[in-house]
Amino acid sequence: MKRCEKCGVAVCGDPRACPLCQGDLVGEGDAGAGVFPSLPAVPNPHKGLLQLIGLATVVAAAICIAVNLSLPASGWWSVFVVAGVVSFWLTFWAVVKKRGNIPKAILWQVGLISSLALLWDWWTSGSLKWSIDFVLPLLLSGAMVAMAVIARVMRLKIQDYILYLMLDALFGLIPFILLLCGALRIVYPSAACVAVSIISLAALCLYEGKAMKNEICRRLHL
Ligand SMILES: [Zn+2]
Repeated sequence: MKRCEKCGVAVCGDPRACPLCQGDLVGEGDAGAGVFPSLPAVPNPHKGLLQLIGLATVVAAAICIAVNLSLPASGWWSVFVVAGVVSFWLTFWAVVKKRGNIPKAILWQVGLISSLALLWDWWTSGSLKWSIDFVLPLLLSGAMVAMAVIARVMRLKIQDYILYLMLDALFGLIPFILLLCGALRIVYPSAACVAVSIISLAALCLYEGKAMKNEICRRLHL
């Protein structure tokens, strides 16, 4: 092992100069040993599971399409299943690849899926029924819970998710307006969503009031 007499350190491998002072080294170098330890390549432990889930979603979608094709009178609901599978994998991909923007990706998915649901509901029944009874409140409250959990698990910084959580909690008050207008037939999902929204907004104000104020000022250029 080589040594730097000036710094008094032993240096692994066979470098030409001391990594600290760039001075000359004395002693015999070990050309075989690298400066860094060699790490064996670890195979992704979730790969098999992911392939299985991937195959399962494709099989489920294919069966739905096949059943739907043989029963065309039931309406083209399989498009919905495929849209659901695609958005699930898009969200998953966004979570894995774009780590910094997960809350943003979740909010986009909520917007995309609820718009699709509203259009689909309107198109098939001529009015808004299940989309505002179930899809909208469940998506909005699910997104709030998901954001809170992901923020905690992945230790996101408050400024990375506060805007999206705030927006989602504010959108979560839309079911409240619909409920007050008497537009809903089934009120429980919307009532739960309003409760989650109020809790989220209250928790943000109580615990992250300063960060929330800063974010609003920054976004609105105040
Ligand atoms: Zn040195």
